[in-house]
Amino acid sequence: MTEIPKNHPRYESLMAREQITAGVETGITSRQGLIAQGRGEAFDYLIGEKTIESADYAEAVAVCLLLLAEKPVISVNGNAAALAPAELVVLAQLTGAKLEVNLFHRTEERVKKIIDVLKENGADAVLGENAEKLLPLDHERAKVEREGIYEADVVFVSLEDGDRCKALTDMKKLVIAVDLNPLSRTAQTAHVTIVDNLKRALPNMIDMISEFRNMEEEDLWEIVNAYDNNVVLIDAVETIKENLTAKQNEVLGIEDGPDQNNDRSKREPRKQSRIQRNPEIARKVMMRGGDLMME
Ligand code: ATP
Ligand code: MG
Repeated sequence: MTEIPKNHPRYESLMAREQITAGVETGITSRQGLIAQGRGEAFDYLIGEKTIESADYAEAVAVCLLLLAEKPVISVNGNAAALAPAELVVLAQLTGAKLEVNLFHRTEERVKKIIDVLKENGADAVLGENAEKLLPLDHERAKVEREGIYEADVVFVSLEDGDRCKALTDMKKLVIAVDLNPLSRTAQTAHVTIVDNLKRALPNMIDMISEFRNMEEEDLWEIVNAYDNNVVLIDAVETIKENLTAKQNEVLGIEDGPDQNNDRSKREPRKQSRIQRNPEIARKVMMRGGDLMME
């Protein structure tokens, strides 16, 4: 791996590139995975390379859903395994979810290698090797394990293709997707769309688990039922628009007036409180979505 100095302004993004490239070299990530990562990076740039408030909210709701699920499964592909293998294992262990390898560019060798990587990172069992063509799709992602994704009630997917996401929702499963592109078919089809980098989303979700783990199921359901995915998608698109406008104004030398201060980075810094600690934020995100929908 190339040595990247920690103070490099693009440290995080360069490190992710190193991880994905290493994944291709060891055979866990497909070459196409490099391009998927590139598309993700482009959207991450537009989002501001940080976890936006509405993504933090979606992550909290995703944690609640995983804890509530009877048969949760975390689907792992070659990019996810290269970027955050340890975090995937910890999330599965803390929520009681099964891990299953599911690949678009499937080879049995790659499935085996990804299973090994997850086991090296502490997983006891990983599904994926005994997959059968059980989903109504014409590509390899149709292959899932009966005991895993096929029977799951909640499925967590990252860097997913829209087709399978749709197939899973058609099977009445609740789908949580991590996708930096709020416009992708996956983002638009999932029930809970986390518009965030997988590398930020997973540690954030793991951090939240202790706050939700001991809550009554009824209270967890209340959080899940109050959630509206459209609001989160609208907020992500709005964030991109605001960031672009702020950049445009910067280039034009236009200063933001008090009324048109759209740049969130210049707003009052948000308090430490997270959505799960402060339902007020949840309400604000919802209200904001309502306002936007009325525009
Ligand atoms: P769809 O079929 O859903 O319209 P797509 O064709 O864009 O989506 P793929 O190229 O199959 O989807 O998958 C890559 C998706 O994953 C892209 O939307 C990209 O933005 C997103 N992505 C890439 N890297 C990351 C990452 N590190 N974290 C989160 N999302 C990512
Ligand atoms: Mg696709």
